[in-house]
Formats: sequence, C-alpha cells, structure tokens
Amino acid sequence: MQTPTTRAQGARVEFYRKTGKIHPRSVSGRYDSLRWAMVWITQIVFYGTCWLSWDGRQAVLFDIAERKFYLFGLVLWPQDAMLLALLLMISATALFLVTAVAGRLFCGFACPQTVYTAIFRWVEERVEGDHIARMRLDQAPLGLRKIALKGTKHAIWLAIALWTGITFVGYFTPISELLWNLGPGELGPWEGFWVFFYAAFAYLQAGFAREMVCAHMCPYSRFQGVMFDRDTVTVSYDSARGEPRKLRSQAASRSTSAATASLIQNTASPRGDCVDCSLCVQVCPTGIDIRDGLQHQCIDCGLCIDACDEVMIRVARPTGLIRFASERELAAPAASSASTSPILAGLLRPRAMVYVGFLAAFTVTGIWLVAERIPLQVDVLRDRNALLREATDGSIENTYTLKLVNMLEAPRAFRIRVEGPAGARIVGADTIQVASGSVLPVPMTVAADPVAGLSGAQEIRFHVEAADGPPTAITERSAFLLP
Ligand code: SF4
Ligand code: SF4
Repeated sequence: MQTPTTRAQGARVEFYRKTGKIHPRSVSGRYDSLRWAMVWITQIVFYGTCWLSWDGRQAVLFDIAERKFYLFGLVLWPQDAMLLALLLMISATALFLVTAVAGRLFCGFACPQTVYTAIFRWVEERVEGDHIARMRLDQAPLGLRKIALKGTKHAIWLAIALWTGITFVGYFTPISELLWNLGPGELGPWEGFWVFFYAAFAYLQAGFAREMVCAHMCPYSRFQGVMFDRDTVTVSYDSARGEPRKLRSQAASRSTSAATASLIQNTASPRGDCVDCSLCVQVCPTGIDIRDGLQHQCIDCGLCIDACDEVMIRVARPTGLIRFASERELAAPAASSASTSPILAGLLRPRAMVYVGFLAAFTVTGIWLVAERIPLQVDVLRDRNALLREATDGSIENTYTLKLVNMLEAPRAFRIRVEGPAGARIVGADTIQVASGSVLPVPMTVAADPVAGLSGAQEIRFHVEAADGPPTAITERSAFLLP
C-alpha cells in the first residue's frame, strides 16, 4: 500500500502509516500502577454514579425528554445553559493547562480511549496469553483452539461493551427503567439505538482501532503541539545520557537472565547508558520508539519509563534515562536540577498563568452563578389580539399571559402584584400555585383608571415573589395600553 505523504521544505511528512497489530509487552512499575489506579477510579465513577439516588430519583440524569439536567440537589433547565457552557469552558481550560504544563497526561491516564483499550488488552492477555503468545496465535492457522480463544475474548469484549452502552444511555434515561425494559424487549427505538451504537463504538474503538485513534483520529493529538513549548514536561528520552547506544548482544534476546548478564557486562563500555534492549519500544501501546524524539503518537503513558527504569536498575545505572522532562531541562540538566521542579517551573510561565487566570475566572463565575441562581423564571406576554378594553366601571383593562417556571423540585405558591399607571391592579386571584419543576402559563387581566392627559403605552412592572419556601422574587416589565 502506498503511503500518502507530502514534502515541505525537503522534509518527508507522513499523514498515515499502516502498521500491523500491536501486541505490547506488559510491564510493571509506578506509571503502570498509576494507570491502573486511574482505570479503577474512572470506571467506578462511570459505572457507579448512575446508580446513586437523590431525593427518590437518579442523582445524575440528563433528562432530554423533560429538558432537565439533574445533578444531585441541583436541577438545571435550558435557561441554565450558561452554567453548562461554563462547565465545558472550565474542562477545556483545565485540559489546555495540563497539556501546556505536563503534555498529554489526560491521554495517557484518563482518556476513555486509553482506559478502555487498557481494559480490553487486559482481557486479551488473560485469555490469549502474553505478547508472544498473542502474536503466535494471530499467525496460527484457524483451528479449534484459535476459535475457542478468540471467541471467548470477543464474547467478553462484547459483554463489557454492551454494559458500557447501557451505562452511558443510563445517564439519559433512568438506568433502572432502562434495565427493566431490556428484559421484556420493550426498549424504546432511540434508547435501543443508542445502547447498541455505544456498545458497538466501545467494542470497535477499544478492541480494534486502539492506538490508531490516538495517532490518526483524535484531533487533540494534532493540535497539542501548539500548546507545547520548551518548558512543557513530556515523556522524553535523555539522548545526551543514552547515546551512543551500546549494541544489543545476541545473548540479550535469548532469556531474561542471560539478557541481564549481558546488559551488566555491557556497562564496562564507556558509551551511553542505553543498552538498545528495545524494551521501551516493546511495551509502548502506540508502537513508537521514544528515542526518536517527541512524536504525536505518544500519549505520555509512561510505560516506557517503567521498562527503562527496570533495565537501568539491572545494569546498575541511575534510573530516568527516559523520564518526564522538558526540552529545557534536557538541554541543561545541571541548571534545571538546581532550580525549581519542572512542573512548578512549567506553571510559573506566562502561558500557563494565562490558563490559570482563565480557569480561576470561569470557576469563580460558575460558583457565583450557582449561588445567585433564582429557581424561578417569569415571562410576560401581552395579548396582541385585544389591545385594550373598557370595563363597565370605566376602567381600562389589558390582558397578559404570565409564564411561570418553577425550577424547584417542590410545588410553590407565587404572589403577583403590578405597579403601573393610575392604580394598576390585578383583576382576579393574585396568588398562583405552580407544580414542582413545571412551566405554568397564567392568563391575567390588569385594570387601571383612565387619567386625563395620559394615553398610549405606559410601563407596567409585574413583581412575582414566593409566598412560601425560600425567598424568591423577580420583576418583569411590559407595557399597559391606555386609550
Ligand atoms: S513512547 Fe512511552 S509514553 Fe509514549 S506512548 Fe509509548 S510507552 Fe507511552
Ligand atoms: S528501555 Fe532504555 S535501555 Fe532499553 S532501549 Fe529503551 S532507552 Fe535504551
């Protein structure tokens, strides 16, 4: 297959490179432990939160049919779109800040693509064996053993993917109802579609596409480069310390103990610390060689650090040949180690401070909006069919429709009074009951006395205040027509 490429200023740039299936070698170490800790935390939150209850309903629910977003005690309405927008802006700014300071940490440890790929690979390893066994199985002709192993793996993958789809849709339809409807086959067409769509999505993305998503499909991997500078800390190979590499001996590839002996033997040479064992490449889930420098496929998972540290310990050399480091630190390690930590140095530069400033501003605005939020909305609509009419007692009447939105999950009573020209007053009841979390249109007639010399549209104010529950008051303006 021909590789699409372009040439810019003599450089060959690859848009897409077809690689074979990657079977990374498993490795243990602090970054692997951190990665699994994040898998557990994110999955406990994802699979568990939809089962929490609050005041007799699901605690976190995006109820699209009712156009409400339940977030524990808070119920957000379409009118609260600003809060949701702020939440997105806070998330995006936090992601930019983390990227500018510490590279693709989100990709390596918290991105759903990485997390589900790790889970699916774990299943694959349990069923098919280690990376060598998996490669052999892939190359083996189709037989009963291969069918059994592959079938078992795909069955488990499909079960995980289906449960993921159900859980995801369970944030938009109460999950207990969703599960109840799954059994008797009464799933609504949209719920059914989205459950199977997300199940298929998880199955294909984590089971097959894997690192191709990070390398070729994710836009974040492409634009992250503009957020990097010389102080951004990323997984880096210390070429000044590692080069020139020692040649890997024949013995190194035969057995672990033989490899260790060979590596130790090689340390007698005055050359660089890298023993060219290629373990950092073998454990990489995206199949790259970090020794070639920063690459957009690198998700900063740190597994190559774990692998290399293990090798450095074996050959009695300091760990950290591959480590989280900035370009500036790698260029002048002595100067950097004498100053502040790389993360702190990354935070204290103008670019990061700008992100911190935006993050603080968005967060404070969000907190202020929630604190000042009034759980009532009032719209006043004038009746445009009947501009005005004269009552039998000589007063002038205008009619309106008040749309009262009670955003609390409790029924409430609201008292309404008007303030306007010539003794404006409400004709009829001035206290209205509104059911919990509902919108109530209320037809309302307002009367005023004619005043000599006063005619045409006059300003009128509707004061709506809670007659019970937490104090709530809103004033809306409209026009009152006099002849
Ligand atoms: S190069 Fe290292 S940090 Fe980057 S993806 Fe590969 S293993 Fe992870
Ligand atoms: S794991 Fe370390 S020593 Fe081995 S090839 Fe990679 S950088 Fe060199």
